[in-house]
Amino acid sequence: MRHLILILGDQLTPDISALREADPEQDAIVMAEVSDEASYTNHHKKKIVLLFSAMRHFARELENNGWTVHYHAYDPDSPHHSLLDVIRERVGQDQPEKVITTECGEYRLDAAIRQWHESLNVPVEIRPDDRFIATKREFARWAEGRKQLRMEFFYREMRRKTGLLMTPDGNPEGGEWNYDADNRKKWTGKPPAPASFRVEPDAITRDVIELVDDTFSDHFGTTDDFHFAVTAGDAEAALAHFLDFALPCFGDYQDAMSDQEDWLFHSILSPYINCGLLDPLGVCEAAARHYYSGQAPLNAVEGFIRQIIGWREFVRGIYWLLMPEYAKENRLGNDRDLPWFYWTGETGMRCMHKAIDATRRNGYAHHIQRLMVTGNFALLAGVKPEEICDWYLAVYADAYDWVELPNTLGMVMHADGGYLGSKPYAASGKYIQRMSDYCSHCRYNVSEATTEDACPFNALYWHFIHRHRRDFEGNPRMGMMYRNWDRQKPERRDALLARAEWLLENLNTL
Ligand SMILES: Cc1cc2nc3c(=O)[nH]c(=O)nc-3n(C[C@H](O)[C@H](O)[C@H](O)COP(=O)(O)OP(=O)(O)OC[C@H]3O[C@@H](n4cnc5c(N)ncnc54)[C@H](O)[C@@H]3O)c2cc1C
Ligand code: SF4
Repeated sequence: MRHLILILGDQLTPDISALREADPEQDAIVMAEVSDEASYTNHHKKKIVLLFSAMRHFARELENNGWTVHYHAYDPDSPHHSLLDVIRERVGQDQPEKVITTECGEYRLDAAIRQWHESLNVPVEIRPDDRFIATKREFARWAEGRKQLRMEFFYREMRRKTGLLMTPDGNPEGGEWNYDADNRKKWTGKPPAPASFRVEPDAITRDVIELVDDTFSDHFGTTDDFHFAVTAGDAEAALAHFLDFALPCFGDYQDAMSDQEDWLFHSILSPYINCGLLDPLGVCEAAARHYYSGQAPLNAVEGFIRQIIGWREFVRGIYWLLMPEYAKENRLGNDRDLPWFYWTGETGMRCMHKAIDATRRNGYAHHIQRLMVTGNFALLAGVKPEEICDWYLAVYADAYDWVELPNTLGMVMHADGGYLGSKPYAASGKYIQRMSDYCSHCRYNVSEATTEDACPFNALYWHFIHRHRRDFEGNPRMGMMYRNWDRQKPERRDALLARAEWLLENLNTL
């Protein structure tokens, strides 16, 4: 054999760089489901089903195209626990001239793979992952010498680079770069949200569901009602479903939350984009076509494209620029354990219950639930960054370290000092009330802050403002909060702080 080509579980892309110039006559592919990767965190059961099933379908497709694929299916009794174990055995048997792979998205495994040549005694060629729009080097160059890194400016570079929503004379379509101000409507049931896209599990997926139910029974979540796409063809159908039925309202209701609807007008495409079933640029181009053909308004299409070529690329750039030290950041000095209800959803706070319960059932919650409900609560409560980061990495079907970590540690917890936002996204219950109907179903009263039934977010918000005065008082975007705090009567401030202290002592009972 000439080359042994390793394809990882999030590299399910037929033209992944590792496969370029490869020859099915001389080269072979290896793919592996191993316990070290499946169990290094408490991955949601649906996430494991999605990845194992998508890997098995991808391997079958490669075989149909004439490839030899050595597929190591998960076996709890296998002596091979790690990818290296599997590769070592294959190298021993096939004696390839070289192992080839595409760079891994996660720092931990990437660092390990970069050492493999030492123990394998064959060269290991690691090729760039060019499914992203900006290379790591390009991002580092952009970041160099800048006092502050702001997504908005990086995003404009990506618009110029891709030409997405740009006029022929180089201006942003519609005259503005960003239509976020138009994207903050509350959703009151109309227009109705589209039904979510569904694929019924085939025999391969049913086998994996059985495996996961047997072997990963102690993991978070459920396999019930698994309906994710597991092939590129079905992921394309999910994209078409989103473009036709949800994209036109995506912008208007991007920040909305609903007690009744899990998915609203979101795309639910991140699980597919992140494992390689969909190409991020292709997804954006398809959305842009819907704008030019008059099928979706500019605020929706720009908002959607910004999430992918702006935020998604930006967080990846930050991750590779700052790892591995980034993962240890805790600039607000948080030391509280993650409340247990993050794993059960058993809390009287309706917004938290609904976000966590959707997460448990679906392996999915939309961005505003992640940011302004479960994230906001962890920020206000001062939860240790590593515990809340572990939770986000475990519970979402789209979660990979490179995208989860900057979103959680940076955007939500402000533990990195502010790469992902010039101020923390801290908010009281009023924000949740404005953007959702949760509060009318809640045992707490959102209009109260100090009473026994008062919404916990309210007093915790002021406690956060008070305890981080030194961190944020000088921030021009936070000045008004401090003026509001100082303007309150001393008795009121004392009552708010006392209520917050009680809440912090009793988080697990809320
Ligand atoms: C605390 C926290 C943790 C998160 N962890 C992850 C994660 O592990 N994996 C992940 O893919 N996203 C993560 N996000 C970002 C975002 O919430 C999800 O990408 C989004 O909810 C996925 O659902 P969707 O496909 O319906 O997205 P849509 O709302 O339809 O957005 C379209 C696409 O934009 C991209 N996108 C949107 N926002 C972001 C963002 N902030 N960062 C990166 N990509 C973005 C995704 O690819 C998404 O599919 C996190 C956000 C927060 C606040
Ligand atoms: S009252 Fe507070 S805890 Fe209850 S749903 Fe509203 S914001 Fe959430």
